[in-house]
Amino acid sequence: MSYALNSMLIHGGIDGDKTTGAVNVPIYQTSTYKQSELGVNTGWEYSRTGNPTRAALEKLIADLEGGAYGLAFASGLAAIHTVLSLFTAGDKLIVSDNIYGGTFRILDKVFKPLGLRYEIVDTADVAKVAAAVDENTKAIYIETPANPLLSVTDIAAVAEIARKANVLLIVDNTFLTPYLQRPLLLGADIVLHSGTKYLGGHSDTISGLVALNDPKLAERLYFLQNAIGGVLSPFDSFLVIRGIKTLGVRMDRHVANAQRIAEWLQESGYVKKVYYPGLVSDPGYAVQKKQADGPGAMISFVLKEEYDYRAFFRNLKLITLAESLGGVESLVCHPASMTHASIPADIRQKTGIVDELIRFSVGIEDVNDLIDDLRQAIETAKIGGDN
Ligand SMILES: *Cc1c(COP(=O)(O)O)cnc(C)c1O
Repeated sequence: MSYALNSMLIHGGIDGDKTTGAVNVPIYQTSTYKQSELGVNTGWEYSRTGNPTRAALEKLIADLEGGAYGLAFASGLAAIHTVLSLFTAGDKLIVSDNIYGGTFRILDKVFKPLGLRYEIVDTADVAKVAAAVDENTKAIYIETPANPLLSVTDIAAVAEIARKANVLLIVDNTFLTPYLQRPLLLGADIVLHSGTKYLGGHSDTISGLVALNDPKLAERLYFLQNAIGGVLSPFDSFLVIRGIKTLGVRMDRHVANAQRIAEWLQESGYVKKVYYPGLVSDPGYAVQKKQADGPGAMISFVLKEEYDYRAFFRNLKLITLAESLGGVESLVCHPASMTHASIPADIRQKTGIVDELIRFSVGIEDVNDLIDDLRQAIETAKIGGDN
């Protein structure tokens, strides 16, 4: 029997504990498992290789993404490291031009010295993706909406290019989660997440997740997961499972708040530019509407010149200045010096990650309180004012 997504969030994966009837999957805090005799075990041998709490989460993310296989890692970057380890020297990856700073860093500083090559492409322009594919290309790696400018890439269109060229399509689905967007169903081969963000949802744990359908590729990824060893602990697996139970209600509120705030910002007279794919005026609006069930809750904006963005950050009272996103609490960050500092300044400027850019992870607080906080922080940041 198959259930709607809102039921799967709570009952998907491995639901509860068969032995005791516990409604929650227990935290199997064990490194190893007794073998009754040589070569005979319970199916569990060693917790890097497999752990029942982690396995419950791995099955859950597979179910939610419409995949057959799931894997859980100690961080989003551990997941990305393992996925990138599918490739070898000489292989080329096509990569979205605005991606998470850490993804760029591991490509540029860890894998490039080992011979892996990458080409940065504005994947929102599908023709540019097709043009970049050559005989060494092994994968297309996209984020949509991308970080931090929320540009939208047409997943199905890029999947078609990938299929024709016989290369993998890898999608970082952190910003929308399977509640709003399911890339595997649109033709992607591998979907990955920083579970640290909306899936965990409470800014209390670091984790990474992968889901996919191809059995051969899954076998290789399980091998790499065990061989590299960046697995998620039983306790953190439990926290992410718990977070996912409320993903639906949280995302609904996140999106409603973000939509309202993006519209308010656009009409406020305070900003030069608002980036949010839920705005009809946004270049990604139509594609986002076609491929996702909502635009998410990340907004980026640039204040007009008469406001000092440094003072804005300082003046906020309810909204917190911090790295990360996707938690119940609203966070703002300064991509140029924080999340995207590892991207060279010239590339940042070229791709629009200007020094004045503010990224806002809209939380689930009362939306009027959030707007009031933004307004007072901007007003008191007026240059020549009394901030
Ligand atoms: C945070 C983030 C990552 C990295 O995940 P960690 O859990 O911090 O290692 C990757 N991609 C995106 C889009 C992110 O926001």
